[in-house]
Amino acid sequence: MTTSLSGRKVLVFGLAKSGVAALRLLLAKGAQVTALDARSREALGDVATELESRGVTLVSGATPPGLLERQDLVVVSPGVPLALPELQAARAAGVPVWGEVELAACFLTVTPLLGITGTNGKSTTTALTGELYARAGLRTFVGGNLGRPLAEAALSPGDWDALVVELSSFQLEGIHALRPHGAALLNLTPDHLDRYANHQEYGEAKARIFRNQHGTDFAVVNADDADVMRLAQAARVPVYGFSLTGTPVVPAPKLAGLAVAEPGGFRLDALGERYTLTNRALRGAHNAQNAMAATLLARLGGVPSAAAQAGLDSYPGLPHRLESVRVLEGVEWVNDSKATNVDSVLVALRAFAGDLWLVAGGKGKGAPYQPMVDAGLGKVKGVLTIGQDADVIARAYAGAAPVHACGTLDAAVARARELSRPGDTVLLSPACASYDQFKNFEDRGDVFKRLVKAL
Ligand code: ADP
Repeated sequence: MTTSLSGRKVLVFGLAKSGVAALRLLLAKGAQVTALDARSREALGDVATELESRGVTLVSGATPPGLLERQDLVVVSPGVPLALPELQAARAAGVPVWGEVELAACFLTVTPLLGITGTNGKSTTTALTGELYARAGLRTFVGGNLGRPLAEAALSPGDWDALVVELSSFQLEGIHALRPHGAALLNLTPDHLDRYANHQEYGEAKARIFRNQHGTDFAVVNADDADVMRLAQAARVPVYGFSLTGTPVVPAPKLAGLAVAEPGGFRLDALGERYTLTNRALRGAHNAQNAMAATLLARLGGVPSAAAQAGLDSYPGLPHRLESVRVLEGVEWVNDSKATNVDSVLVALRAFAGDLWLVAGGKGKGAPYQPMVDAGLGKVKGVLTIGQDADVIARAYAGAAPVHACGTLDAAVARARELSRPGDTVLLSPACASYDQFKNFEDRGDVFKRLVKAL
């Protein structure tokens, strides 16, 4: 199955980005492909036209009975729950059901793959790890759940010396043989409880990242996270930890080495090395964790230490995550539009010493705002509210910090310009979804950047 799909009947379930990439890969491998999506042909637009012109049979709407059972292989997009009755029926009929990353990995077996998962920090750690590998002169594919689907890398496997891949829990559910040479589990907090029965099931999906590792492979885990450490006990390869405190939580697997944060950087105990962390794109304790994970993945994967340090210094950051937009007359403007919940705002607030003007609000998620009020005490000079949840946020801040009701982002930027003084930071970290006023968090961040650049 893995080496030859030529002439085999393969169905791709779900035509989002990675489903389409899987289809293109299957076509390149000569498979006889059917594509299934709940959306209508019209809704699929150009993609449908392209696929049909290449001989793909397109089925939209409900799954015709028996269709999946007649396939040699079913490939699912990460958005499609594996528990769907038709997928269970296919499995029961002996049809393998794979995720897109599993399919891709079949054609990428000779290139080392570094896999990164966790509740938060996956994209940052993936992009950063990619930077460290690229700095070593390796032709590095960076993608997976972030950016380009892994199936794109599999179209030209000879192009890559290293694959740095972000893996979501949904993607990990669909792996069978995928084997990361280095696998990182960054943290585990309750998430996606709409799709998982409980926190344990979610954690077990994430821990699948370790299941095929063996031999010279290695695992990298957050030694301060009790759930992560518990799951890491299942790893059959050397486990390296990273820690902000230097004291791993128990129960702990025996650690082969520990990375520990220290002022201005971190050290890798196992290798006797020290790294500095002065890059603005990596400020905050959470980014120190991401940097330690990335550096372990790089050093244990053969990246020289000088290249690793160079990558930590040159990493440009991802948009919308504590992204420094500009410094204008001594005031720094920071776009953290990705912070769509209170937890992310806490992480952002911890990354600054003080003198903050916080722009927050949007479509709230119902979680209490009090934790961010508490975390900002003595740091937040004022809050500029926008969007639907403005009043709820204002009530939470009553007596804790002055609140300026701005309504819209442009009004908030204008007001922040008036209020801020040299040395201050204006931080867009909304704690809310953006859909009440913007297309998505990227759109919100882009609007903020445009407004700030026009000041
Ligand atoms: P993901 O891809 O897992 O969503 P990102 O790198 O895009 O992760 O970061 C998303 C948000 O998660 C950031 O804006 C920040 O608030 C928070 N975050 C990033 N790294 C960490 C970390 N190591 N621990 C906790 N929170 C983090």
